[in-house]
Amino acid sequence: MDFVRVALDLPIHTLFDYRAPAVTINDIGQRVLVPFGRKIVVGVIIELARSTSLPPQRVRSVLSVLRDVPPLPQDVLTLLKFCSAYYHHPLGETVLNALPARLRRRQQAPTGGTFRYRLTSTGHAVDPAALPRRATVKFELLRRLSEAAQGVDESALRAIAPRALATLKTMIAQGWVESVAVAPAALNAAPAQESRGPTLSAEQRIAVESIRSKPGEFSPWLLLGITGSGKTEVYLELIAATHADGRQALVLVPEINLTPQLEARVRARFPSAQLATLHSALGESERSQNWLAAQSGQAGIVLGTRLAVFAPMPKLGLIVVDEEHDASFKQSAGLRYSARDVALLRAKLRAIPIVLGSATPALETFQQALRDRYHLLPLTQRVNATLPVIECIDTRREALIDGLSQTLLAAIRDTTKRGEQSLIFINRRGYAPVLICASCGWNSGCHRCAARLVLHLNDQRMRCHHCGHQEPVPAACPQCGNPDLAPLGQGTQRLEGALKRCFPDARILRIDRDSTRRQHAWRDMRQQIHDREIDILVGTQMLAKSHDFPQLTLVGVINADSSLYSTDFRASERLFAGLTQVAGRAGRAENPGRVLIQTEFPAHPLYQALRAHNYAAFAHEILAERKQAGFPPFAHQAILRAEAPQIEAALGFLVRAARSGQPLARNVTIYDPVPAGMPRLAGLERAQLTVQSRSRAALQSFLRDWHPRLDAAGARTVRWALDVDPREP
Ligand code: ADP
Ligand code: ZN
Ligand code: ZN
Repeated sequence: MDFVRVALDLPIHTLFDYRAPAVTINDIGQRVLVPFGRKIVVGVIIELARSTSLPPQRVRSVLSVLRDVPPLPQDVLTLLKFCSAYYHHPLGETVLNALPARLRRRQQAPTGGTFRYRLTSTGHAVDPAALPRRATVKFELLRRLSEAAQGVDESALRAIAPRALATLKTMIAQGWVESVAVAPAALNAAPAQESRGPTLSAEQRIAVESIRSKPGEFSPWLLLGITGSGKTEVYLELIAATHADGRQALVLVPEINLTPQLEARVRARFPSAQLATLHSALGESERSQNWLAAQSGQAGIVLGTRLAVFAPMPKLGLIVVDEEHDASFKQSAGLRYSARDVALLRAKLRAIPIVLGSATPALETFQQALRDRYHLLPLTQRVNATLPVIECIDTRREALIDGLSQTLLAAIRDTTKRGEQSLIFINRRGYAPVLICASCGWNSGCHRCAARLVLHLNDQRMRCHHCGHQEPVPAACPQCGNPDLAPLGQGTQRLEGALKRCFPDARILRIDRDSTRRQHAWRDMRQQIHDREIDILVGTQMLAKSHDFPQLTLVGVINADSSLYSTDFRASERLFAGLTQVAGRAGRAENPGRVLIQTEFPAHPLYQALRAHNYAAFAHEILAERKQAGFPPFAHQAILRAEAPQIEAALGFLVRAARSGQPLARNVTIYDPVPAGMPRLAGLERAQLTVQSRSRAALQSFLRDWHPRLDAAGARTVRWALDVDPREP
């Protein structure tokens, strides 16, 4: 083949043709260095071609094929192509973003002894005598490299001169030198050592055996297990079996926060297996190393957040998506993909089982199980504990002190007296969500967003939680001069203060994004909680997810009502999932747990279902509502989002976009443009329009036709993006 079509990290929906005579079919998925304009950039070979439609004089040549790491495998390329087409995002950005940052850069990335450098055919053709006389380092590098057919490692080259590595980079950029991976040490062939897990309960055993009964075929499973029912044990058992078969397991978790606990459990269970973690908190070199360990097949277990779904894994035998309902599996910028959905496709491509685990599955997922598209595996019992008792405290009937009811205060007192721990949950960090002036009605708004500045009393700042803007706390009302500004509402800091006043002897710990900013802070705090150095925890959703604190027996929930009557049709689904998780923290060991929810609407069906621990009842009810209203999962949606300095520009774009879509719409409804849920963010006005269809295929076909027309409808000041299967309103 004479040409290659290369994906480049550009927001353009095309591939780029280059001349590359020496490339073979094995180089598909390989990284290359190519000239682009006046720069040299890294791309990925997507296709080989015999010809190009470009005029011959305009076709440039690939500078070098970076064979230092193996090419992206076929299944990952297929996945990325699918994502690009389905989410209508440029293939180049899609592909390049799936690589660890180091592999995206021009510099020969991974070092550390496993790579060697050697001359390319271009490099061999260079006559050292023809080099400028001053190019002594280059000359020496050329000489050394030409003598070593197997390549030379970095340290040997570095020893030549202080400038050697910089010069080496230039030579790589010129296409004279390439790096090659030194074959990794053979996989440890000894049978994996593994500590034994507990004896499984009957339900757990059925789950494991069912999933294991279908090796070598695509089978999606919904592991619907109440909190503490032993879902993780089921995963571990399945990983053990996968490992025993010599295959790799991919475990996806929603947040970095959750990886340490699961990581610890996996390591304890499989002390000799290589575990590679992949998430954004890793340093660049660690991340690329782990990625390479996944790609080489050496990492038997890959544990990561959503981006890990694209990690190359030659021996992939199992995918687990833990807390599959979690919104963080959906990326909300750039390639707006759902890692859960992509994982399902990947499992299908590889013909392997995939397990979606949750106590409160996304309604999309539950609906698939009801339609027998996924196999449902229930875990209905807590293994060594009972479910907590959930009660509502009617705040219309009880006087509150700093937002806390007498019933809740008494329960905290009893819990502390018994030497057990309480968690008070509130979904707002800071001291109070807004500062107001009672005399003129002024309130602390963010000048860049349609949002209030939150009062942070600890460091005397007003902060916008949306754009990050911050300013000092005003001494008086900026509008009328009234010095008596009052904080309105509750945040974690204020709640912490109130609890300190009520329980001066108790050891109270606040856990939110502010208190855990310092590196390792969160890890240290978890340790403190485990070591029983804490009586009362105050925290946000951060605390709710999948933490196992055996001494925690009381959970109090403050201010949950606000999402009950939200305009977002997903708000109640999120609230139910959130509260189930928070409630699930209580009573996970021998001591029974109790959950108290302060609400003005104790009779609300959502709270009733929650009290009964009845996800299914709740899900059926919401599904009926959604069906009635024609909302997902009974329809498929895409949102066209636009932002601009002026709202007219954003709306104007959407109106033109809608008009250009009308003639194309078959079985697709285009709704009117409306201001976004958050109408102003970081100084930009935002609007959006929804397109919807009962048929996914019809929606996709419409989007394919429509998408190219959007550029024409665009204007220089408008930034827009398509969000397919949106999770946010
Ligand atoms: P989930 O992932 O559903 O929240 P876990 O797997 O974390 O549940 O299990 C909850 C607790 O029960 C953990 O402490 C776990 O070690 C324990 N556990 C799970 N399965 C068993 C079992 N079969 N026998 C004994 N303990 C178990
Ligand atoms: Zn005022
Ligand atoms: Zn702001």
